[in-house]
Amino acid sequence: MARESVYKKYKPANRPKDITSAPGYWFIFKDYEMIVKVTNTGISIPYGNLEELKIAPVRTQYLGTLEGKPCYSAEVDPETEAPKGMEFRELRSLYDVLEGDIFLLAGKAVQMVTWDRDHQFCGRCGAATENSPYEMAKVCPECGFRSFVRLSPAVITAIVKDDKLLMAKHGYRGGMYSLIAGFVEPGETLKEAVEREIMEEVGLKVKNIKYFGSQPWPFPHSLMVAFTAEYRSGEIKVDGREIVDAKWFGPEEIPRMPPRISITSELIDWFISKF
Ligand SMILES: [Zn+2]
Repeated sequence: MARESVYKKYKPANRPKDITSAPGYWFIFKDYEMIVKVTNTGISIPYGNLEELKIAPVRTQYLGTLEGKPCYSAEVDPETEAPKGMEFRELRSLYDVLEGDIFLLAGKAVQMVTWDRDHQFCGRCGAATENSPYEMAKVCPECGFRSFVRLSPAVITAIVKDDKLLMAKHGYRGGMYSLIAGFVEPGETLKEAVEREIMEEVGLKVKNIKYFGSQPWPFPHSLMVAFTAEYRSGEIKVDGREIVDAKWFGPEEIPRMPPRISITSELIDWFISKF
């Protein structure tokens, strides 16, 4: 079973009124590029206050605390240059560089920044929105419409038949074999999404669908919910476009592994650990 809590050191703030101006960790973004401090010993998140960091953000958000210290996210102007000793790095490229929970916190930060930027005005009537004092929501003072941070649940499943694991090669993901995954559709339970995706992508029926774990994934705002399942019936059939190939792999035959903290690699490790 995958770990239940991804954060070991981070405590979220669920209400914007908890806002503080004390020095803290800054997750500063220009689109999906984040400012990091680069030293001989590695890469870290800038710490201090904005004057010290010489950064003038467009907007900031309070995220909570990391080992008792405040954490903020911020958006800077596209023209902004990184302060001395720091660099902008693509968030995705920091996946294997930052500690697991720091990377996930950076993922939360970029989602907060994007949400704040994209919901300055009411999607229903166009009036300027305000932050709710009670919850992470934007409220329209004219019509009362509320906007929450968008989250898109997706399911991913390890399908096992005898001693083999099903992996499919995606036409659009650099031709890498991976597990069957897809977004949950409105009106669907997670189990139904698992069954539908597997039927659509490889034409198989499964049984014994079991929850395995979950992982926030900020590109752009997914929550990956992982399952294990057993093959029930059918022959592998792929559409040749989205999925170009799918086959059963024994524990020794599993192709190239995705990076370490992804839930995909945890599912694959789970499969291999059965032998
Ligand atoms: Zn409105």
